[in-house]
Amino acid sequence: MVNKKIVTRFSIFLITFTLLLSLLAGLYFYRGSVRSNLTSSSCNTLENITEQQRLAFLSKLQDQKNSIRTYASFFEYNTSFEEDLLPALNVIAKNSTFSYITIAFPDGSAVENTGLYLNVSDRDYFTRALAGETVISNPIISKLTAEDVVAFATPIIQQNKITAVLIGIYKVQKLSDMLLPSFDGSGYTYITTGRGEIIVKTKGLGNLNLYNNLFDTLMVLDTFQYDNYDTILEKVYANKSGRSEYFFRDGKKLMEYKPIGMNGWYIFSIMPESTVIAQAAPIMTSTYVLAGGIVFIFILLLLYIGVSQKRHMKELSNIAFVDKLTGAATRKKFQITATEVLDSSMQGYAVVILDIDKFKVLNDTLGYACGDKLLICISNILTKNLHREECFGRCDSDEYYLLLEYEDDDSIKNRVLSLLTAIESEFEATIDSSYNLVVCAGIYAITEPIESINILCDKAKHAQQLIKGSQLSNVSFYSEELRNHILSEKLVENKMYDALEAGDFMLFLQPKYRLSDESICGAEALVRWDRGNSFTLYPDQFIPVFEKNGFIVKLDFYMLEKSCAFIKEWIDSGITPVPISINFSRLHLKSINFVDDIARIVEKYQVPPQYIEIELTESTMLGNDNMLISVLSHLHEHGFTLSMDDFGSGYSSLGLLKSLPVDSLKLDRTFFTEYNDLERAKTVISSMISMAKKLGICTVAEGVETREHVDLLIELDCDIVQGYYFAKPMQSSELSEFLAKNRKD
Ligand code: C2E
Ligand code: CA
Ligand code: CA
Repeated sequence: MVNKKIVTRFSIFLITFTLLLSLLAGLYFYRGSVRSNLTSSSCNTLENITEQQRLAFLSKLQDQKNSIRTYASFFEYNTSFEEDLLPALNVIAKNSTFSYITIAFPDGSAVENTGLYLNVSDRDYFTRALAGETVISNPIISKLTAEDVVAFATPIIQQNKITAVLIGIYKVQKLSDMLLPSFDGSGYTYITTGRGEIIVKTKGLGNLNLYNNLFDTLMVLDTFQYDNYDTILEKVYANKSGRSEYFFRDGKKLMEYKPIGMNGWYIFSIMPESTVIAQAAPIMTSTYVLAGGIVFIFILLLLYIGVSQKRHMKELSNIAFVDKLTGAATRKKFQITATEVLDSSMQGYAVVILDIDKFKVLNDTLGYACGDKLLICISNILTKNLHREECFGRCDSDEYYLLLEYEDDDSIKNRVLSLLTAIESEFEATIDSSYNLVVCAGIYAITEPIESINILCDKAKHAQQLIKGSQLSNVSFYSEELRNHILSEKLVENKMYDALEAGDFMLFLQPKYRLSDESICGAEALVRWDRGNSFTLYPDQFIPVFEKNGFIVKLDFYMLEKSCAFIKEWIDSGITPVPISINFSRLHLKSINFVDDIARIVEKYQVPPQYIEIELTESTMLGNDNMLISVLSHLHEHGFTLSMDDFGSGYSSLGLLKSLPVDSLKLDRTFFTEYNDLERAKTVISSMISMAKKLGICTVAEGVETREHVDLLIELDCDIVQGYYFAKPMQSSELSEFLAKNRKD
């Protein structure tokens, strides 16, 4: 009897439980499908709205372009317009939507309808209009009123000749009136240049507003679906449309972007997912009404959800706000507290990042327990040393962000240095005294308090990245140049592997001429990076980054391969080759396989080694130890010739020449640019050449640009010259033609 009761109760419990569970599951899946349907339909809506915005904006731009053209034709028919210029300009200014009307003459001198004179010869839009285009400029700062404006410019053509340029100045502020508000103000739209600079934006509630450059902002956003930062940049670069989803501040955002179709400008439309969820709410309610028949279970269900959510929220907030290991604040908590402090206090602050150099190495060598101890020790020291209004958080494994009071650079630097010292000595005293712990810091003294805390942190990190691993200094300050530098380095690094794969690094060759008979006696391989759309990057713009990240090693071998392939082509088509010199970075000397790797490649292409010259810069050779001499001799044994590059640029000593087995010496091109006094240059160069002669080393002068230089070098008995005077670096095919012509001569 008792057993039966228990069984019945248990069955009822089981059935209720199953019912509840299936109801819960049903609702859950239904809710998910409503959401995802809405999300995908709102993506389409977003796409439609973006397109509408784009068309509306484009047609308004087009109207302005048409109107400046119409006004120009007024001058074109009126041949003697220069007489009544000002009244005419004023009539236009009054009747058009332009704020100012300016007429500019071919030499750049210009007059505005207000009667003011200015010079626009340095403005890009002016040059383009003078070449016959009707153009709209990117935003510029007005020379007269210092307002942000764009210029619509068009040529005035009289008797088939461009006699002037008519310019309509339009306030950027007014451009934003061209944008329609979207999603009842909860969405927002940006118009940017092709490089991400924001031109205008709608006044949406949740505007990103981090950087003036939208790309910088996108770079720091958290999570992406569809297009990520790199893809967005690539697509914009290729003038394509795209879509992305990311998390920012209060939730998930859907983003749609496409080219405007003018000037390389772009439109970005963004809609918070919460707008979608809000749309979902009524549908959900009717579902619940349908489920009204089982109200009781429904309430139970709600209760259940409510209780578990509450517990869940509490757990979440613990997970979200307190760092389990050290008890410090998490990134989220730090962001919230720091924002509150910055909002409520009038005093100056700086954001500081502390970061352990090579934390991974420390973990690997001393063990994770030691790493954990160090983190706890840092948290303790910070807790002890921070003032009441200040705060900090452990934001990533070994990254701490601090908000510190700021008075001036010196005092914050000292304060940060003393924190670093405290950490390092505590580590030495209590954890490990043999390990050389380095903690470095980046500081951003806040000058733009309206920037979000993420951006402030970013700036501190930018500063810190500069010194990380450099051992030059432990503390570094943020500056605008620094940011640009790091962003461009990042872009270069993001693209380098793909570029190598795609063959975007190009072999350029610059011929060398023997001074005795002006015959071509060799060429130097110089790299160029083809970034598409006939946009080329020069070595100065990427080699320093590659030297830092080690990629240069790959690139140098790639250039060697290309040079070998080219020499092989010459040989196969019956042309006697000239030697090609290839630049090798000093980083190669770290590899014991350096010489063998070169020999293997040259053999692979069956190129006789005398056609390959290895160029190493003077600074590489400064080591002057046994290892270096053995590498150089090893290269010689393989039959390669050796050239010492940039001689005279650094701490060169003539003594260096005696001890190193090099075949030729390249005199640095700065000899000609940095010596204003030709007589002095002459003395220095002449002593180098005569020393080289005595040692049987061939001399090559670089950067020879004028006949004067050539004559001087003949007088000083230099052997070979390379420089713009004879030829600039060129595509390999062009060099073949050059060589053929030179040999005929
Ligand atoms: P470098 O080895 O001293 O190369 C000579 C540089 O002088 C080249 O610049 C060349 O274009 C430039 N030049 C030649 N004649 C004249 C002239 O008459 N006047 C002036 N003002 N300049 C002249 P480029 O191609 O920009 O290369 C710059 C540097 O980048 C090179 O200096 C070299 O150190 C490095 N580099 C270029 N390609 C490679 C490479 O494949 N591997 C490595 N490791 N470094 C490379
Ligand atoms: Ca060189
Ligand atoms: Ca050089």
